[in-house]
Amino acid sequence: MHLSELLSQAVTTLAQCPSPRLDAEILLAWVLDRPRSWLRAYPEYQLSAAAVASYTDLIRRRAQGEPVAYLRGEQEFWSLALQVTPDTLIPRPETELLVELALLACRDLKAPRIADLGTGSGAVAIALQYQRRDALLVGVDISAAALTVATANARRHQVTVDFRCGHWCEPLAAEAFHLIVANPPYIETDSPWLTQNGLPYEPQMALVAAENGLAALRQIIATAAKHLLHGGQLLLEHGHNQAVAVAALLIEHGYQGITLHHDLAGLPRVTAATLGLRGVGEGVD
Ligand code: GLN
Repeated sequence: MHLSELLSQAVTTLAQCPSPRLDAEILLAWVLDRPRSWLRAYPEYQLSAAAVASYTDLIRRRAQGEPVAYLRGEQEFWSLALQVTPDTLIPRPETELLVELALLACRDLKAPRIADLGTGSGAVAIALQYQRRDALLVGVDISAAALTVATANARRHQVTVDFRCGHWCEPLAAEAFHLIVANPPYIETDSPWLTQNGLPYEPQMALVAAENGLAALRQIIATAAKHLLHGGQLLLEHGHNQAVAVAALLIEHGYQGITLHHDLAGLPRVTAATLGLRGVGEGVD
């Protein structure tokens, strides 16, 4: 069968997906191990029966709602191709804001010590280590399976991250950091969002939190303080409607300098807070 015929059939099959042509092209390029532009250049290309079979299977799974990232086993984050599996959340573009803010927060520090809580595929920790080779990165996750993926991703991009398995701050023992970042689960248990956009395929423990989606944020805020150096910063991704609740929790636990940052969609997405008002890293208790 001609490439162009197969592609237009796939676009029809994916009619219910948000971006049928894009998904069909990405998956075909993946099966043929070619760039997407190649598909445009060779519409007459004859695919082997094996290639048609594996493409047809991918399109069937995509039509049922499985995310393209899991079908390919890969997602780009911070321009880095990362392995993703159903054990890891698919890194979102809005989480790049967390990376940007973290880089800004430690720009004047030499060898900043940074912890990434709930690291998943390692996306945030790896992007930070990639940008700041002098940084000391610890990546924590409760899922050993996720950490296997994160370790492979770090190796792939030749960065060193100290991955540790455990619950939020627990594996940090008695260590203190200039910066603690986290993209924890923050979606409410009964949110209709959980049934859409491929979310049912993602690890629910990376997405969903009790107490109106605030349980993990609350635990991190309560425990991170004793792992921050004086003037250290906590950077938290949260839901667009959780900024006020997060700020209240931060105030309750003695944080200062609380600032809210919006993502590219203009939604409140990351809150930063310090412990002690001196700049991060100035004076270490
Ligand atoms: N922002 C993601 C979403 O809405 C959720 C990520 C998370 O829970 N940390 O799909």
